[in-house]
Amino acid sequence: MLVDRYGRVATDLRVSLTDRCNLRCTYCMPEEGLAWLPREDVLTDDEVVRLVRVAVERLGVREVRFTGGEPLLRRGLVDIVTRCAALTPRPELSLTTNAVGLVRVADKLAAAGLDRVNGSLDTIRHDRFETLTHRRRLDDVLAGLAAARDAGLEPVKVNAVLMRGINDDEAPELLAWALEHGYELRFIEQMPLDAQHGWSRDAMVTAAEILESLQAVFDLTPIGDVERGSAPAETWLISGGPAKVGVIASVTRPFCGSCDRTRLTAEGQVRTCLFAREESDLRGALRAGADDAELARRWEIAMAGKAAGHGIDDPGFLQPSRPMSAIGG
Ligand code: SAM
Repeated sequence: MLVDRYGRVATDLRVSLTDRCNLRCTYCMPEEGLAWLPREDVLTDDEVVRLVRVAVERLGVREVRFTGGEPLLRRGLVDIVTRCAALTPRPELSLTTNAVGLVRVADKLAAAGLDRVNGSLDTIRHDRFETLTHRRRLDDVLAGLAAARDAGLEPVKVNAVLMRGINDDEAPELLAWALEHGYELRFIEQMPLDAQHGWSRDAMVTAAEILESLQAVFDLTPIGDVERGSAPAETWLISGGPAKVGVIASVTRPFCGSCDRTRLTAEGQVRTCLFAREESDLRGALRAGADDAELARRWEIAMAGKAAGHGIDDPGFLQPSRPMSAIGG
């Protein structure tokens, strides 16, 4: 098992399949993009599946979420999903995506064994979408989310980041839209993970502000901590349910104490936290001929060193050198 020194057990693996992305969300990546990882540094499909297999067969991982960068840009995605769905015990498989191009592959992903999709969408207004992402792809995203729902990749959860002065007034409108389309909306507090290092706590739209603006329009009832488990989102029932809305308050209400996640970057580095400043190299060991037992041992050692919390509030907090796109959100 992947156990840390505080007794937390990681059963949820986030696998980044690429650091590349076709959007340029201002809180993540500069408009000109970034220097992408060299191809030879990125795990091959076989290497990804091997490490997922080690995690599932030997380390107790039960859920695998593919992310990035933009995972739909990974050519072998459907094949990777197919092979991971054939593992025993079969892990739950999900995808975090900006949904651009999802309309073309949603059915194939569902047939391959993908269980669920989380889409990312911060605004339903065309002008704001372009301001936030530097791309005119809102219609593609909307079509992609609908395709995921129609393919049965449900519940389709939609993640939204609110940015002050850009879309911070849009929470109720986004929620009304999500309810109309049968999506489960979750707001994520902006985290200090942008490549530009432009994050500031004062500018961040807080969970409290988001809730206040939602409660002005919707009747929200909190779902208790017991039902929340290790989920990052705090959840509210809307008008008594069953529809829900979530807020992932990573900054103002951290949930590190119940974290059950471990992460693998596109180049095969284990990270114990989004905000970790250290990584453990599995790719090097794998390419040097390590067997499954040795890979599992290295992963366990990495997990043992997981920090108690992300430390954003510590005076000595340093933003990780890698941006979110290179870690895998
Ligand atoms: N490209 C995919 C997508 O858009 O979902 C997967 C990767 S993206 C890094 C995963 C999630 O991280 C998205 O929902 C995105 O909005 C969120 N994200 C990126 N940078 C963030 C930041 N600085 N703070 C909070 N969330 C962030």
